[in-house]
Amino acid sequence: MANLVAIVGRPNVGKSTLFNRLTQSRRAIVSDTAGTTRDRQYGKCSWNGREFSVVDTGGWVVKSDDIFEDAIRQQVRVATDEADLILFLVDNETGITDWDEDVAKILRRTKLPVILVANKVDNSGESYSAAEFYGLGLGDPQCISAATGGGTGDLLDLILTKL
Ligand code: GDP
Ligand code: MG
Repeated sequence: MANLVAIVGRPNVGKSTLFNRLTQSRRAIVSDTAGTTRDRQYGKCSWNGREFSVVDTGGWVVKSDDIFEDAIRQQVRVATDEADLILFLVDNETGITDWDEDVAKILRRTKLPVILVANKVDNSGESYSAAEFYGLGLGDPQCISAATGGGTGDLLDLILTKL
């Protein structure tokens, strides 16, 4: 799929909320393949007269921390295999976690463009704390609120410059 943007990140950072906001009513579920693609959700996004596809990579149900870590690595591997651009979502309410560090380590090695996105910045006063995500080594975070839509216009502008 050309122009595919993958949303990756640990559970609960807001991947599905962002996916729903980007795709709005234009969602088109494509994949129902066995295995890793089972829980992947594809949709389309239009912005400024351009269109691209979005995949929400979440949805693994795991029972132990070890398996969970494997699941996240697998999620990132599948995303970097098929996508043209990665949105790496982190949660500004919780800050950096070990799992974020884990994902960041993999993403720093990929040749794909990666946009670091700090979600749950629901008002501008909260963007101050997002500066710590710079420590993940993937540049300055783009602050958004997937819930309210704040910052998502700027994010979409940036996505288009990298596709
Ligand atoms: P996922 O597991 O990464 O797909 O995360 P979800 O999209 O399911 O969201 C996890 C939780 O975070 C839900 O309770 C959402 O309502 C909440 N959430 C998502 N985006 C935001 C946001 O921008 N601000 C706040 N305050 N909560 C959010
Ligand atoms: Mg989800």
